[in-house]
Amino acid sequence: MREIPYKIYLEENEMPTQWYNVRVDMKNKPAPLLNPTTHKPMTYEELRPVFCDELIRQELDDTTAYFDIPQEILEFYKMYRPSPLVRAYCLEKTLNTPAKIYYKFEGNNTSGSHKLNSAIAQAYYAKQQGLKGVTTETGAGQWGTALSMACAYLGLDCKVFMVKCSYEQKPFRREVMRTYGASVTPSPSEQTEVGRRILEAHPGTSGSLGCAISEAVETATHLDGYRYVLGSVLSQVLVHQTIIGLETHTAMKKYDIHPDIIIGCAGGGSNLGGLISPFMGEKLRGEADYRFIAVEPASCPSLTRGRYAYDYCDTGMVCPLAKMYTLGSGFIPSSSHAGGLRYHGMSSILSQLYDDKLMEAVSVEQTSVFKAAQQFARTEGILPAPESSHAIKVAMDEAIRCKETGEEKTILFGLTGTGYFDMFAYGKYNDGEMSDYIPTDAELEPGFAGLPKME
Ligand SMILES: *Cc1c(COP(=O)(O)O)cnc(C)c1O
Repeated sequence: MREIPYKIYLEENEMPTQWYNVRVDMKNKPAPLLNPTTHKPMTYEELRPVFCDELIRQELDDTTAYFDIPQEILEFYKMYRPSPLVRAYCLEKTLNTPAKIYYKFEGNNTSGSHKLNSAIAQAYYAKQQGLKGVTTETGAGQWGTALSMACAYLGLDCKVFMVKCSYEQKPFRREVMRTYGASVTPSPSEQTEVGRRILEAHPGTSGSLGCAISEAVETATHLDGYRYVLGSVLSQVLVHQTIIGLETHTAMKKYDIHPDIIIGCAGGGSNLGGLISPFMGEKLRGEADYRFIAVEPASCPSLTRGRYAYDYCDTGMVCPLAKMYTLGSGFIPSSSHAGGLRYHGMSSILSQLYDDKLMEAVSVEQTSVFKAAQQFARTEGILPAPESSHAIKVAMDEAIRCKETGEEKTILFGLTGTGYFDMFAYGKYNDGEMSDYIPTDAELEPGFAGLPKME
């Protein structure tokens, strides 16, 4: 009889009913969003044309430790949560490591990733405010899919600007969104002023997240009854994603498991921030200690090679300025296959924690990531998303290190989603045609040169 089951699920009455706001326990708070013109902190009133009221309150709130999860969102969560905390017995055996490996699997819903956790919250607050609909951008398509599902459930209109190269490469994602009733426009488009401007400056461009954000914001602010919502980076999103960490924390406590290392992939930082928040809170309060590792692609290394500075969140420079580790809003990463990790900046919460040396970061190359993904699929059965596989790769590296040192460490990582829409990328890897692209310092320079000048 094994003491720890393969999968640890929580009972319904053990499920979290509040999200946790780690900013409360941070000695150095994340820097405030600034008005791009005046460089003064953005006020509630200034943000109202763009974001939903309640979400702005959460965004600006450094002092409320817990936010009650509204009943309707709890009901929705029940459709696909709790997500399993899995003990990776098979992987441990294959690696022949004394380490104990756990992963929290967020891919068991139709959208295929953790993004649904915040999509339903954001759609709910939009609905509560009496809005007609929301606009957003999507890169690889996971966020757009999650938001379409949430909007369909609540009867809200959903307008998605999808980065053009993904729109063309991932037609199935597009059709999932349309099945849930969303309208999907390839970005840059002729529909917005900023889209037309970008198309004129860069004819034939395949688009970027930063550009799609600008189009979605412009559309929201020009349409009556619409607001803009975002799938990562913002503090409110990280707060919603703490459902991942809170479930994990409760499940581990139940079985008296203490993770030594907690690992997650970092795109905009919301999934990792959500996973580590309750544990980071303990570390910040001096109650426990953990190692936290953010994993990013070597092709888009915002934490490991970026600058900690105020930057534009979008190409069109219509959003507030955020202080974050960034490669510059003008940085366009090479066409890596981890679409969800291609954003130029990082959550201001994680940026501050990293700057305070409370969290580590590493970057990994995509062929090594797919190698880990393949091994994981063959041993644990789940076909992981390329984004999630960044965390798998580093968790495996740490487990192999334990084998060398004989240490029985407990490793926890976030498995953010499944990779069924990434088979084109898997195909490249299987054919031996995948390459690694690491930008040179000289190639990063123009992005840094484009950072806003702050006095
Ligand atoms: C979007 C996405 C990510 C990146 O998440 P962040 O919270 O932005 O860091 C990781 N994995 C999957 C599967 C995703 O869809």
